[in-house]
Amino acid sequence: MKNNVWVCLEQNDGKIAGVSFEMLSEARKLADQLSGKVGAVLMGAGVKELAKEAVAYGADEVYVCDDEQLKNYRTDAYTRVLEDLVKGKEPGILLLPATTNGRDLAGRLASRLEAGLAADCVALRLEDGQLVATRPIFGGNLMADVVFKKDPAMCTIRPNSLNKADPDATRGGEIVDVAVVSEEDKIRTQVKEILAKAAGEISLTDAQIIVSGGRGLGDASGFDLIREFAKELGAAVGASRAAVDAGWIPYEHQVGQTGKTVGPKLYIACGISGALQHLAGMKTSDVIVAINKDEEAPIFGVANYGIVGDLYKVIPIMIEEYKKVVA
Ligand code: FAD
Repeated sequence: MKNNVWVCLEQNDGKIAGVSFEMLSEARKLADQLSGKVGAVLMGAGVKELAKEAVAYGADEVYVCDDEQLKNYRTDAYTRVLEDLVKGKEPGILLLPATTNGRDLAGRLASRLEAGLAADCVALRLEDGQLVATRPIFGGNLMADVVFKKDPAMCTIRPNSLNKADPDATRGGEIVDVAVVSEEDKIRTQVKEILAKAAGEISLTDAQIIVSGGRGLGDASGFDLIREFAKELGAAVGASRAAVDAGWIPYEHQVGQTGKTVGPKLYIACGISGALQHLAGMKTSDVIVAINKDEEAPIFGVANYGIVGDLYKVIPIMIEEYKKVVA
């Protein structure tokens, strides 16, 4: 295996996403064991300043592809730039985020490079100098170890599954400007408009506190109470797949195997039974509080604090009590 470890950074609106720092921290550890370098690829428009942050988290070289063409994520444009870089520099390992865009990019790129791709990894290690990537299978019930037959070994990494090191602003690293030479007419998509999230909504993956609602809410209006609770606590709003499938809340709020993996300090599950597929996305939360009227609900098996009761009675009391504490 070649010994350089690369990370494809994700940035949104000029801010590097947390998962990028988690990948850089892990890449640093792997590269040190392989006596290799950490390379980071930063794509976007007006993003060059962010390269220093990547160096602080462990990158030795940051390839900055700063171009209007890369302002918004587009599969063709991003794939072409990354493909050229990887073919030219030949890293042994390439990590991408298991986010919506990262998953899209990784699949396309792996196909172009004819490389192996382990998706949704939660842990990485080296055995005899070879990468072993661990990923959940069967709804998070089992873990599979994946090994790679050839370079580059590509992995997408689930946000909040790897530890983030402390940044070191004194670290030195090389920042390399990369010219973007794609022809616009070869890029098959144009971004016409970006619909912003409702004002004030906190992103699930970065949230310190999450209040999630499930089928136990009964109908879509139940999320009014969840949102009120979340607003009071400064929390993000999550949901089970049952609530999403019922059309009560958009998919971007879904937590679980086929939704987002979250790791907040506090996760409050309201009217969620605790199916394996839901637990796969939130069980590493520091503190879990469950509100459920069924004392046998599996969610109580992972909860640090369980409240058996009707969420429509319990949550208003919690809001009132919280207001008294912060008043
Ligand atoms: P239910 O299981 O119906 O539970 C509702 C709970 O609310 C019950 O425990 C009930 O006691 C309680 N309740 C009812 N009324 C009240 C009340 N008034 N007050 C308090 N409690 C009340 N699920 C996910 O969440 N995320 C995923 O990413 C995901 N991916 C999946 C992938 C696959 C391949 C498959 C097969 C399934 C997936 N699922 C996922 C679905 C999962 O198996 C469950 O069906 C789902 O999580 C159930 O959602 P729920 O807990 O809201 O609903």
